[in-house]
Amino acid sequence: MRAEKDSVVSFHYSVRDAADAGAPPLDDSRARGEPMLALLGHNQLVPGVEKALTGREAGERFEVEVAPADAYGDYREGLLQRVPKKYFPNAQKLKPGMTTVLTTREGVQRMVTVRKIGMSSIDVDHNHPLAGRTLRFDIEITAVREATPEEIAHGHAHPGDGHAH
Ligand SMILES: [Zn+2]
Repeated sequence: MRAEKDSVVSFHYSVRDAADAGAPPLDDSRARGEPMLALLGHNQLVPGVEKALTGREAGERFEVEVAPADAYGDYREGLLQRVPKKYFPNAQKLKPGMTTVLTTREGVQRMVTVRKIGMSSIDVDHNHPLAGRTLRFDIEITAVREATPEEIAHGHAHPGDGHAH
């Protein structure tokens, strides 16, 4: 069957910065072993990848270039923040360019990129690490199936061996 809204698609992918095609992938599902599993039409994927998967079948392999607007958005200025080191459990290990999780005063966990390490504080960037980048995805679809009513109700795909909430 062809992938459409409410299909569950399994696929392997690797993603590179389109401007730096020779660099190692930024992310590679094969390195993790399991293919990615996604329910189409429920905002599980960035729009550009969702669009590229739609209408495809198991066994297809293709590349697609996705602009920031259809991936992780434009890089926004003004999202730098100076945070006291005590808020980072792993402060000693951090280096500029690394991503880490910061827990806000409201208790929300946010992925941030370290920009600068000071004596008592660390400057972090709240932009998504891939914001502002045009990305090149290499995608191989391994399976397409109809979603179960439960998956549609939950708004996400469930692995074949089922899962409990
Ligand atoms: Zn679920």
